[in-house]
Amino acid sequence: MTESRVILVTGSSRGIGAGLVAGFARKGCRAAINYAKSEEEANRLYGEIVGFTDSDEVPLVRTDVSVRADVRDMFDRVVANFGRIDVLINNAGINRDGPFLEMSDKQWRRVVDTILTGTFICSQEFVPRSKGENGCIINISASTAIRARKNGCNYRSAKAGVINLTRCLALELAPEIRVNCITPGFIETEEVMTRCSLCNPENLTALINTIPMGR
Ligand code: NAP
Repeated sequence: MTESRVILVTGSSRGIGAGLVAGFARKGCRAAINYAKSEEEANRLYGEIVGFTDSDEVPLVRTDVSVRADVRDMFDRVVANFGRIDVLINNAGINRDGPFLEMSDKQWRRVVDTILTGTFICSQEFVPRSKGENGCIINISASTAIRARKNGCNYRSAKAGVINLTRCLALELAPEIRVNCITPGFIETEEVMTRCSLCNPENLTALINTIPMGR
C-alpha cells in the first residue's frame, strides 16, 4: 500500500473497521471514518488518527450505507477532502438474529440492507469517483456465510450474497478495479463478545478449541 492512498472503511466507528482505519493511518494512508450511530466511538478514533495523517481534517461521516443519497454525499465529501479515493472497504454490518418463522420484515431488511445493499450502493458510488486508476474494493463477508445456522438466516444470506456480488463485480470491473472479499472467522470485537456470550470463560474456551490457531 503506497503512502498516498485514500481509503474509506464503512462501519469504522468500532470493531474491525476501527482497527482497519487505525492500522492504515499508522502506515501513512489517508483514511476516512464512517459510522451510523456510534458518534462517541467515531470521535475517539478520529482523535487517535489525526496525528498520523498528513491532512488536518479526516472525513468523519455519519451515513447509513443503505441510503443512496447519503452515501453519495459521503463519497463527495471524501473526494472533496482528499482530492481522490483509491480503496473502499465494505465493512459495515449488523446482526439481528431470530428464528426464521418469527423473523419480521424489518429484522430481515435491516440486516440485508446494511450488509448486501450497502455493499452494492457503496461500490456503485465508489467506482466513478476512483477514476479507474488502480482502484480496489474489499468486501468483508464472513467465514460462516457458506454454512447454515439456526436463527441467522438474514445475516448468512446477506453475507453469502456479498461473496457472489464480489465475484460479479470482479468480472465487470476488471482490469481497472480489483474486487476481493475477506471472510473472517471469529474476531474478538465487543459486538461478538456480547452477542455470543464470550465473556463467560467456558464459552470462550469452547470456541477457541474449535480454532486451529488456538486464539
Ligand atoms: P461491530 O463491532 O458491531 O461494528 C460494526 C460497524 O458497522 C460499526 O462501526 C457500526 O457503526 C457500523 N454500521 C452498522 N450499521 C451501519 C450502517 N447502516 N451504516 C454504516 N455503518 C453501520 O462489528 P465487527 O465485529 O467489527 O464486524 C465488522 C464486519 O465484519 C461486519 O460486517 C461483520 O459482519 C464482519 N464479521 C465480523 C466477525 C467477527 O467475529 N467480529 C466475523 C466475520 C465477519 P455504528 O456503531 O455507528 O452503528
